[in-house]
Amino acid sequence: MRMRANPLVLLGAGLCLASAAYAQQPDSRSPELVLINGKVLTMDGQSSVVEALAVLDGKILATGSNASIKSIITPRTIVLDVAGKTVVPGLIETHAHFKAAGLSEYVVIMNRAKTVAEALDAIKAFAARKKPGEWIVGSGWHPPSQLAEKRYLTRQEIDGVAPNNPVYLRTVGHFSMANGLALQMAGVDKSTPDPSGGSFEKDASGELTGLLVETAIERVEKAVPPWSEEDEVRQFKIAQGVLNSFGITSVVEGATEPREIRTLQKIAVSAEATLRAGLMFRPEPPADMSAWEAVISGNGASSGFGDDWLKFAGIKIFYDGGMTLKTALMRDVYPDSHDNYRGIAQQTPERLTQLVSICNRYNWRVGVHAVGDLGIDHVLDAFEAADKEKSIRDRRFILIHASLIRPEQMERAHRLGVRIDFQNAFMWDKAATVERFLGRTVADRAIPTRTLIEKMGIDSLGAGTDFPVNPINPLLNMYVMVTRKDINGKVYGASEAISREQALRLYSTLHVRRRTEGYA
Ligand SMILES: [Zn+2]
Repeated sequence: MRMRANPLVLLGAGLCLASAAYAQQPDSRSPELVLINGKVLTMDGQSSVVEALAVLDGKILATGSNASIKSIITPRTIVLDVAGKTVVPGLIETHAHFKAAGLSEYVVIMNRAKTVAEALDAIKAFAARKKPGEWIVGSGWHPPSQLAEKRYLTRQEIDGVAPNNPVYLRTVGHFSMANGLALQMAGVDKSTPDPSGGSFEKDASGELTGLLVETAIERVEKAVPPWSEEDEVRQFKIAQGVLNSFGITSVVEGATEPREIRTLQKIAVSAEATLRAGLMFRPEPPADMSAWEAVISGNGASSGFGDDWLKFAGIKIFYDGGMTLKTALMRDVYPDSHDNYRGIAQQTPERLTQLVSICNRYNWRVGVHAVGDLGIDHVLDAFEAADKEKSIRDRRFILIHASLIRPEQMERAHRLGVRIDFQNAFMWDKAATVERFLGRTVADRAIPTRTLIEKMGIDSLGAGTDFPVNPINPLLNMYVMVTRKDINGKVYGASEAISREQALRLYSTLHVRRRTEGYA
């Protein structure tokens, strides 16, 4: 297996490559790049901190003192004096929908709005740059936790600021908003029947509010014209630059559509990728299992297919809802429930088991979105059933989010070789929402990072943000890991705080582990 050409991630491996190999072949082993006068956090087993490092063919050739690294410089070497700055491994974001980072010119990014009025202003300003009739799409926000009014916008409010454009506002999934023109272009009016598993919300007088719930989203989503291929290539290129600017060198794309795969491949084959991407391919599971089997076996690929820059990481399947949406599937009834409400699952446990089993049969790793503890029970049941048919233990099946995981579930996951990709960033601007829906005790045990490390070891864990649901900034995410503070300085579950070094390790060691696991 080829080593990943990720210079900063391979620091540890670089240490042993250093002097021996170099001494034998001075010319061919001369570094192309050297960093000196730094505080280089090698993240090796001893957490060594050194002054300098050398890079060859995009990989770490050596780390050590200024003197030792200077001794291998040749005329072709670029020497960068980093003047005392800290050098860390390239960061790995294990769950993001990262194209969103390249959309600021294309969609209204709503994450800064703190009130309904600010949200409407953002739409109005964007509409001013559009021709009448052009679609306006918004995203990157969660109104009930973000806006002071704790609610979604209405169709009438949006019509007030953008009467001549169809406006469609995505949130974090599950709920979207549309204005009058958008509903009209999607062929939806107040007589349109609700689709199964969703609804077009109506007010007391029977008028559409513009809020689209669950499967009703699809109806308007389909009316939004797709980006041109050229637009999409540009969006992804901007996005990878944004992630790179935060020190992120690898990403797992959390739910990839076929169209996005084609675009990313275009970038990769033209050698313009600057971000290594593993794709969680997300085919929409059809009702019929033989159709699912055809999708999963149909193209002959499986996890690991691809190269250093772009590969299939696995199949993404959704199970329950979210803890910030009051839809996480919970063992306990919700605190304010009068009807035994425990949350929502998108399919039955039996169907989930079948979906997972078929993926496993064709060597696909499966990553399942599961947030509530009951949801996690069902996913672990499905993984266990698949494991009985064909071992999954060395293949790193993934629990995605697992925000409300219980200690004994961590042990169960660990026995199955399951990896957990979790996102502390949910407890930044959404912690109060979690508390409101699920109570303080649950909010305190959300994303139990210290217990996860204790029960599973850092090697079984991956850090991420679920961007654009939460900010992509890894330092902000690490801040939440270390302090357990939310945006208002309120501490949730102080005993689950971890050290800064652990936070950095969660963000930086996955590739090395993948390599030793034969993950590719
Ligand atoms: Zn996600």
